[in-house]
Amino acid sequence: MAAASSSSATEEELTLTVKWSGKEYTVRVCGDDSVAELKRRICELTNVLPKRQKLLYPKIGNKLSDDAVLLSSLPLKSSLKMTMIGTIEEDIIVDPVDSPEVIDDFEIGQDEAVDIKDKEVNKQKLKRRIDQYKIELRTPCRPGKKLLVLDIDYTLFDHRSTAENPLQLMRPYLHEFLTAAYAEYDIVIWSATSMKWIELKMGQLGVLNSSNYKITALLDHLAMITVQSDSHRIFDCKPLGLIWAHFPQFYNPKNTIMFDDLRRNFVMNPQNGLTIKPFRKAHANRDTDQELVKLTQYLLAIAELDDLSSLDHNNWQSFTEDNAKRRRHA
Ligand SMILES: [Mg+2]
Repeated sequence: MAAASSSSATEEELTLTVKWSGKEYTVRVCGDDSVAELKRRICELTNVLPKRQKLLYPKIGNKLSDDAVLLSSLPLKSSLKMTMIGTIEEDIIVDPVDSPEVIDDFEIGQDEAVDIKDKEVNKQKLKRRIDQYKIELRTPCRPGKKLLVLDIDYTLFDHRSTAENPLQLMRPYLHEFLTAAYAEYDIVIWSATSMKWIELKMGQLGVLNSSNYKITALLDHLAMITVQSDSHRIFDCKPLGLIWAHFPQFYNPKNTIMFDDLRRNFVMNPQNGLTIKPFRKAHANRDTDQELVKLTQYLLAIAELDDLSSLDHNNWQSFTEDNAKRRRHA
């Protein structure tokens, strides 16, 4: 009995009214959403980034300041109004480099991750995200191409170092890598930040107007979902199912690979993720970092396979070496 009532409480949709800057906004959430998720929904309506929002609600103290708290654990009522205090980034566009944000680098263990993708609650979240999130194509999907999904921060760009020119923080060989990959893969960039920042940063690096390759789409933090591990850690991840559901005639679990420096980001599709070595301290490492050169070889080597998800991307380096050996002996 208790289980049944708690499950209905978490799946229940809740309509909240949020007051901000003299206006009222209607936000729809579910009990199994976290405060972080609520803030993303509010961001969609107001453009105030989640990290800049402070939420006030009668009689719940400072519980809304903890992003991990599940909404079902709070006595929220549709009849009461929430107040948000926060400022839009405006057109100044604050680079994350300037914000003293805590870097959250924890990784979840393999065993912790095991059930997350199969949990009904997470499948439901993904379904809702598929319905809510619009993917804007910058260029049409190409028949017969595989899909490469790329993270930005620490994957393509060192967003924590400072430089006079953003190009100094770009991972070496980025354009060569994208050019080579584009021959076999459509390219999607997915970053856990706002679309404004993604467009700004990728534009500065020259990724959005190259004559050698095209970016199929950009996805931002609003496309992510919040999940909970068995040890009750709550975190955001990037479910590829969102892309597969929007373009089923082009992309699927068999022809998609995703690079991210955080393994937890592909917890909903572990077979499609490759954990890339983070590119940090650009000034010290930009003369030696060869990661994108090596990954180019891997991407091209596996491009001829029918099913990428049968590979163990943890062993990508030995795959490329074995391939080279085979070619030498052939
Ligand atoms: Mg990253």
